[in-house]
Formats: sequence, C-alpha cells, structure tokens
Amino acid sequence: MNEYDSSKMVDMMCSERNMQQTKDPAEADLILLNTCSIREKPQEKVFSQLGRWKPLKTNNPELIIGVGGCVASQEGKNIIKRAPYVDMVFGPQTLHRLPKMYDDAVKTKLPSIDTSFPKIEKFSKLPNALSVNPSAFVSIMEGCSKFCSFCVVPYTRGLEVSRPPEQILNEIKNLSERGVREINLLGQNVNAYRAKDIHGAKLRLADLLQLVADINGVDRIRFTTSHPLQFTDDLISSFENKKLANYLHLPVQSGSDRILKLMERKHKVELYIDRIEKLRAIRSDISISSDFIVGFPGETNEDFEETMNLINIIGFDQSFSFIFSSRPNTPAADMFDDVPYEEKLSRLNRLQALINVNANKISQSMIGTEQNVLVEKQSKKDIGQISGRTENNRWVNFDGPEDLIGSFVNLTITEALPNSLRARLIN
Ligand code: SAM
Ligand code: SF4
Repeated sequence: MNEYDSSKMVDMMCSERNMQQTKDPAEADLILLNTCSIREKPQEKVFSQLGRWKPLKTNNPELIIGVGGCVASQEGKNIIKRAPYVDMVFGPQTLHRLPKMYDDAVKTKLPSIDTSFPKIEKFSKLPNALSVNPSAFVSIMEGCSKFCSFCVVPYTRGLEVSRPPEQILNEIKNLSERGVREINLLGQNVNAYRAKDIHGAKLRLADLLQLVADINGVDRIRFTTSHPLQFTDDLISSFENKKLANYLHLPVQSGSDRILKLMERKHKVELYIDRIEKLRAIRSDISISSDFIVGFPGETNEDFEETMNLINIIGFDQSFSFIFSSRPNTPAADMFDDVPYEEKLSRLNRLQALINVNANKISQSMIGTEQNVLVEKQSKKDIGQISGRTENNRWVNFDGPEDLIGSFVNLTITEALPNSLRARLIN
C-alpha cells in the first residue's frame, strides 16, 4: 500500500509541478518520506532518517522536507516538535493535496500539517501513473473498520471506504492500454469492498473481480489483503476464473482460538480451515500465505503450538511473521504481557523455520513443471537473464531476450533456490 502511495506522490509532483525524480537526496528540492507505523521499529527509523537529511538544509536552504503516511497521521504536529526542520506533515488520505502544500511551504516557510481523512477524495484527484511496469497495483479501498486489538491501521488510515467501480475500472483500462498485464487490487481488507455501480446495483469484491477480468489485456489478477471473515463463498467461487492467480494471501495471525478472541479477529480457527478447504475444492494446488503475530500478550506455549499445528494443517507457503509490537491507543497495548522477549524470539524463529520448510517443499515440487510467467524485468543478479513471477509469487530467472519483458511465457523450472527459481524458456 505504501509503495502504491509513494508512486502516486511521485506522479503528483512530476505531473503537477513539473518535477523530476532523483535518487540523490543532495540534489533534491523536495524530499518526501513515506512512513509506516504498523510496528514500533519502522516508526523509530523515521526520526533517524530525518536526522540524516537535516544537514542537507544547510547546503540548500530552499529544500522542503515532507513526512507522509501512517507515522505522520499518528504523530501529527509531534513530528515538527521533534524535527523542527520538517516543512510538511500529511497523512495517507491527503497525499493528493501535496502540490498545494508544497507551494505554501515554499511561499510561507511555515510548517503545514494535514492528516485529515477526507473520505475518498484522494483518488479523484490523482493523475494517471506516469510510468508503468507489466504488473501494477491499483487501490480499491482505503482504511479499515475491523479494529483488531493489536492494530493501528483504523486510527491512522481511517475507516473502510471503497472507491467507486468506474474510477477503478478506468484506471485499469488506462494501465492495460499501456501494456500492463497483471493487476494487483489493493486495500487493507479488499474483501470488505462495498460499492454500487452506475445503475445502483450493489457490488462486492467478487463482482469487481469479474469486471476487471473482462478488461481486454488484463490476464492475471491478484488481490491483497483479505480478512478471513469476509472470505465468503462468492469470493471463493471467483477462483473458478483462471485469470485469478493461483495464490492467496489470507492472514490468520494465530492458530489459537483463545488468542484470536483476544486479538478481536472475530472468527475461530475452524472457519479459516473451512474456507481454505472450500477454496482447495476449486484449486487443489493453490498456494496460501499468511501473516502471523507471535508473542501476543499472554500467548502460552500451548497457544503457540496450536499456531504451529495450523501451519502443518494448511501447509502455508512463504508468509510474513512478526513479534507483537505494542501500538499506541490500541486495546492490546494495555493487555498484561508476561511472555519474555527471548521466548517470543525463539517462537518466531521456530515458526519461520517451519514456514521455510513448507515453502521449500513447494519450490522443490515445482522443479520439472511448466509454469506460465509474466516477464517483468532484467534479472538483478545475472546479466543477460530476465525475471518474472510464477502464479504462486516466486521470482524466476532465465535466459531470454529483453523484448519478452511485458509478455507471458512458458518455462520449465530447472532449479529451486531459497528465494527464487531458475528456469528454461519453452516458447
Ligand atoms: N488487514 C490485514 C489483516 O487483517 O490480516 C493486515 C494488514 S496489516 C497492515 C499487516 C500485518 O501486520 C498484519 O497482518 C499483522 O500480522 C501485522 N501487524 C499489525 N499490527 C501489528 C502489531 N501491533 N504487532 C505486530 N504485527 C502487527
Ligand atoms: Fe489491522 Fe487488518 Fe485488523 Fe484491519 S483487519 S485492524 S488492517 S489487522
């Protein structure tokens, strides 16, 4: 989501203020730091990064520094208090106001702060992407109304708001006309998508997926992230459409009903297993990935073993896992937590090792199979090679001409490495 927002900031400033992007901060007239506050560590990094940029203002007094994203939303004017050389503070929902904020900062030399949640105004104000890759993100909804007890998102990004379908479809049509072949629909909980079409008919994510699949040129669709509670039968049936990648990211967080209740996830482990079984009745070999929080306040060894058990039942593919991080204003921040940090770390290591074993098995089982891959770029490691992603989200490197970038090709997988695959081109 932040990657998408950052690219929109670049598009805004380039198209509306004729700026050019530079990778060298010493050369910049404007530096924007897009931030994440989902855990404490990335939040702390914000101030150390700002500290590194501070001296640039001595050489270039005209330099404007802006802080956006969820830390900006959460901390507001405290950012200016702690780092008075920051000129602009804007939240995830106000990044479309950047050009005006920038003009004001240049003119008045006074800091400005706008971290409001002006509904979904942002999207109608954003320009089309200036440059495109074969695979693109498209945001379909913002915010979250689930209020899981550990999570800061509803406070920093606001409540769930869905984008009108026409706007989404126009953005995707524009992208596909420019060569984009894969669309990744984005939102904190995309399956909470609720909208109406121009005739007033109700639309949910399953309906939107069908409309996206009907767009000429769009050949692969992904969506992220979903909540198990709203991973409903209509959405499961959407996987009958082969344009949906054979991959699902459906975070479960924990395999213990007791912890899920404390997390206020509003479902039990059984529901999760049931949904995956239904999905596998349609796509027997689909890759399932998840997010896990380890060491939630009061998590016992038994609770943790239940999570390990669930990992074995589902056979999760490569996933994201984190040690619980206490976030300001969330209910979990006040929960009694008697699990020592060393214990949490050891659980995290065990969980990650088990996930790696599963993911490795899946990669090994792909050797010798034929995979349809969207070629996205030149390989970073091997000059002369090109790279793409399999449906189950693995990078594959193989020999082939650069002009295949942007096309789907069939490959035979020849080798499975820990973080990527190698392959041979078939056609
Ligand atoms: N909406 C998605 C869901 O409900 O699964 C998750 C979105 S959240 C931005 C991404 C992940 O960050 C979560 O799935 C969770 O595992 C992790 N996360 C959120 N708050 C956290 C916290 N306080 N400590 C550790 N991990 C956290
Ligand atoms: Fe955070 Fe996801 Fe829960 Fe929403 S559903 S509060 S984004 S973890």
